[in-house]
Amino acid sequence: VTSDALELARTLIAIDSVNPLLVPGAAGEGEIARFCAGWLAERGFEVTILEQSAGRPSVVGVLRGSGGGRTLMLNGHLDTVSATPSQLTPTVRDGNLYGRGAFDMKTGVAAIMVAADAARGLRGDVLVTLVADEEFGSAGTEEVLAAFSADGAIVAEPSGFELTVAHRGFAWFDVQITGKAAHGSMPEQGIDAISHAGRVMRALDVLEGELKGGAGHPLLAPATVRVATIAGGVDAATVAPSCTLTIERRYLPGETPAAVEEQLRDVIHRVPGDATTTVTALVSRAAFEADPGGDVVNCVSRAYEAVVGAPVVQRGEPFWTDAALIAQAGIPCIIIGVDGGGAHADKEWATTRSIDRLTAVLEKAIREFCS
Ligand SMILES: [Zn+2]
Repeated sequence: VTSDALELARTLIAIDSVNPLLVPGAAGEGEIARFCAGWLAERGFEVTILEQSAGRPSVVGVLRGSGGGRTLMLNGHLDTVSATPSQLTPTVRDGNLYGRGAFDMKTGVAAIMVAADAARGLRGDVLVTLVADEEFGSAGTEEVLAAFSADGAIVAEPSGFELTVAHRGFAWFDVQITGKAAHGSMPEQGIDAISHAGRVMRALDVLEGELKGGAGHPLLAPATVRVATIAGGVDAATVAPSCTLTIERRYLPGETPAAVEEQLRDVIHRVPGDATTTVTALVSRAAFEADPGGDVVNCVSRAYEAVVGAPVVQRGEPFWTDAALIAQAGIPCIIIGVDGGGAHADKEWATTRSIDRLTAVLEKAIREFCS
């Protein structure tokens, strides 16, 4: 079973699936989705292709149980960030598999496929969901969740072969500050939008201090607020009539997207001055936290211990994942994936040992959850 996952991962790495929203004109998920759909169909999975956006298919393969059991969803993304020809040529050296997606996350996809195929004779259904567009907008997982549900889910994003039980959410805001232009020799006749932006940024520094000093989370870095872009002013002799900020807020489990937005509006609108300030929410993605005593956490922890012979380490991630969307849809969810490194970097790899072990853990977890 184990070398099957490594071989399948090599095949998947060799199929270009660079996200075209990251690299204009890139291949997208068409070819890799066709390959995975064929692989699953040959093995008796009921295959559905979801493709609301042309050329960006996600694949759902359902292995039907005999009935009366629970349904487990296994989720992995098919897209990668940019890849050179040499990164599309997988190599195994010194116990590591190298190539684009070796870590993030074609090894996870291969482990899901091989484990789901191996775990047969169960009462519950196994849902293999291989999605498009995780690296940009998560359109694939959103499309899957609109059509499919489950009693539990495992996302096989790389996690150092530990159990990821939490990560922060994030939100982006556009702040438009409008003042009034005036000749630089008579600034009192204008309203200086850049000066106002400075006061907004000092207020955000105060908020950042409060966030750092808050209760925090044992597995996560503190919540943050940060000005990501700034643009304003006309020329050296004119009082700036406008200034625009983009703000990024990272937030902890327990903070809701609505509360985060309300807090930011409140802080910004309390800044004194005559400029007009408009706050527009651009994107908001919820934080993720697994139920520590839930069935999915327990089931995967037991499977890990049976395979490895030691308890699994729980961790939080600094970044956001599709697990938050799955949890938001009401499906208890955790993340476990291979060990390695180099996500989005020139040299990306996974240890072959963690590919084998991940496959074994997933198979055991499926067998128990869907029994
Ligand atoms: Zn990923």
